[in-house]
Amino acid sequence: MKLSRLPSGQPEIFYTVQGEGISTGKPSIFMRLSLCNLHCTWCDTPYTWNWENTPWETTSGRKYSKKEQIIELSVEDILSTISSYPCQHLVITGGEPLLQQKELLELISILPSSWTIEFETNGTLIPESLPLDRQIQYNVSPKLAHSGNKPELALKAEALQWFNQYPLASFKFVINTPSDLETIAELRELYNIPASKIILMPKGISSEAIRDSSEAIINHCLEHGYRFSDRLHVHVWGNERAK
Ligand code: SF4
Repeated sequence: MKLSRLPSGQPEIFYTVQGEGISTGKPSIFMRLSLCNLHCTWCDTPYTWNWENTPWETTSGRKYSKKEQIIELSVEDILSTISSYPCQHLVITGGEPLLQQKELLELISILPSSWTIEFETNGTLIPESLPLDRQIQYNVSPKLAHSGNKPELALKAEALQWFNQYPLASFKFVINTPSDLETIAELRELYNIPASKIILMPKGISSEAIRDSSEAIINHCLEHGYRFSDRLHVHVWGNERAK
């Protein structure tokens, strides 16, 4: 499986608390996979996809060596690493982890049933290779216009419908401008998404940026019955990797 490689040469697997979404504060082992099928201009993990000699542009302007940023691990090696932590909750993130769902199926198949699993996904791919009987939680973060992706690439009807009918999926939207709230209202209507599945989260990789927009977003959540998500890890560690 292709994982993100830290500057130390180690795979990006780390023990922390979940910083966003409905499991905020939960002790978790994070495993960051490489590769993504979208190209968000403000992506906070561009080292998983923004390779040298590709046309994609991000706000940081940095490009990355694919060879240096990817480390390949067998499912046995991954199991051995994650089993060394005092925790049995795995958060599989990226990049877009569902690009490697066949390899992930191998890992999940050998993961003891006492483990719980959470995915962070951009919601463009249906997890058709993954088991339905493992009670996997999907934190789906559809990308809106401010991400710079074409809507036909970022908002895939079949996948959004799949996650909407799956009981353990929630939609976490990153809010940048008031027009995002209108887009969410349109998506709700189009896919009949219940308010209880919607989470709004401020865009920002500093406490100040998050604080600046939080009150307006919370007010919108209160008006519509949505959940609000902070970015706990940003307040504690800023934009540091593997935290
Ligand atoms: S979908 Fe996620 S990982 Fe992919 S480019 Fe967007 S923010 Fe980055």
